[in-house]
Amino acid sequence: MPLTLVNHPAYSTQPALARRHPISKYARLMEVLAEGRIIDRCVCHEPEPATYADLTRVHDPRYVERVFAQTLDPAETRRIGFPLSDPIVYRSRAAAGGTVLCGRLALDHGLALNTAGGSHHAFADFGAGYCVFNDVAVAARALQAEGRVGQVLVVDLDVHQGDGTAAIFAGDPSVFTFSIHCQDNFPARKQRSDLDVGLAAGTGDDPYLSALDAHLDRVIEAVAPDLVFYNAGVDPHVEDRLGRLAVSDAGLAERDAMVLGACIRRRVPLACVLGGGYSDDLDSLAKRHAILFKTALAFAPASGSKGT
Ligand SMILES: [Zn+2]
Repeated sequence: MPLTLVNHPAYSTQPALARRHPISKYARLMEVLAEGRIIDRCVCHEPEPATYADLTRVHDPRYVERVFAQTLDPAETRRIGFPLSDPIVYRSRAAAGGTVLCGRLALDHGLALNTAGGSHHAFADFGAGYCVFNDVAVAARALQAEGRVGQVLVVDLDVHQGDGTAAIFAGDPSVFTFSIHCQDNFPARKQRSDLDVGLAAGTGDDPYLSALDAHLDRVIEAVAPDLVFYNAGVDPHVEDRLGRLAVSDAGLAERDAMVLGACIRRRVPLACVLGGGYSDDLDSLAKRHAILFKTALAFAPASGSKGT
């Protein structure tokens, strides 16, 4: 069975003044997937950009309107980390629409992967940390509104806490948020996820994977989700510029296999989003992100949702 991918040409849009956010990693990732012939074993879907109605299920309408009109004030723009422009607003909508489509396709096929997404620092009424719209939150709400899911689980293994997602779903038992992150890293002020595991700087493969193993199966069993969103950020990697953890390529592959295996074994639909990853060496970074897709290929033949 081919792997189900979601990709949009706008993902590779490069924001101005964003030296610390190598957004062109998205373009390089697609090249790496092509060079490794991974793309040959995938079916690619292009999403529609998220609409105002999609976005305002999660975000404050005044925030969405001001993003669309590019009228955020300088402090709000600084908090996001790059200035808005027509292409960047469109890209933010495309990434959120991509995760909505990824969720739908995961429900249809058991497993789907968005080649962008994971903007987990975006709150309901402001953006932060290179995140404009919280695509996973928008997707969870869209699929709930469509009546396709009730209970959702977010497994966020990006090295930074999924603070926006945690805040958006605080007090909402229909979306369980689980974050494993580096405690001594951005954001300085953490929100409360339903389950937080904060690891010390320098944590390597064994303790990292043990932390995941200690909670993953138990959380899936307890939450009994209709759909899991997995933020597969590669910034826990030892060579990541911002990560502060010490996970290897093999450690990332094993981590991804644990999440994929835990969901697919139980026939719980799984929607993966790319998440963070930071390096001046775009080749290495794109290869690091490609680990998820390679690992997923091994699971694709066995995937299939409850309904199929
Ligand atoms: Zn991150």
